[in-house]
Amino acid sequence: MIFPDWMMLLAAPVIGSWLGVLIRRWPQGRPVAMARSACDACGHRLGPLDMIPLASFALLRGHCRYCGAKIGWFYPAIELAALSVAAVVYYASPGGWQNWIDTALGWALLTAAWIDAETFRLPDIITLPLILAGLGVTWVYQPGDIYGHAAAAALGYGAFRLLNAAYRALKGRHGLGAGDAKLLAAAGAWLGLAPLPYVVMGAGLVGIGMVVVASRATGLRRDQPIPFGPALALAFFLARLAAGRVG
Ligand SMILES: [Zn+2]
Repeated sequence: MIFPDWMMLLAAPVIGSWLGVLIRRWPQGRPVAMARSACDACGHRLGPLDMIPLASFALLRGHCRYCGAKIGWFYPAIELAALSVAAVVYYASPGGWQNWIDTALGWALLTAAWIDAETFRLPDIITLPLILAGLGVTWVYQPGDIYGHAAAAALGYGAFRLLNAAYRALKGRHGLGAGDAKLLAAAGAWLGLAPLPYVVMGAGLVGIGMVVVASRATGLRRDQPIPFGPALALAFFLARLAAGRVG
């Protein structure tokens, strides 16, 4: 590898800042720029110093240097989250190419989960390439497992679509979205069949935990729909890390 693994930790807040731009723009179908370009409040063009992730927020104490408007927690939060993903992979992954691949996977899942949490939609623009990427990584590093992983992707998709159809027949509304099925297909493509039941169970537990916390914090009714994507993405990511060195 040309770059040492710790470079990922340096790059993470910058990538996180860019993921923030994606999360803000993709769901609205707005064109994606390389970086946040202007203050949301006063429209002043941001200089390079205003765009240093985390540091600029800390130095300016969370206010725009031009108009004094509060910048809000969103950008520092996504930058910190992206850094956390890189740090967790740095300590859990065996290093080398797998470190980079797992970090990229973690960032893609973080972005998908965040968009789902805000909009109740897992974007195809992330889930579908993740299926292909999982098959591609398997093809290169575990070529003997490629058919098993492809079958796991198909089964993961089919299982969630079937569950949703059953739920719909019983309750008359959707339980799991098509986006959840595509994300489980991606998990199958990356992990193979054996870990999939654990991913689904883990996601279920995380999801139940989220409902309990959310209903305590906001008085949300228990039967209120919650996005399942974040729980599924977290379980998928942890299962990938738990698999350790592959290939
Ligand atoms: Zn401003």
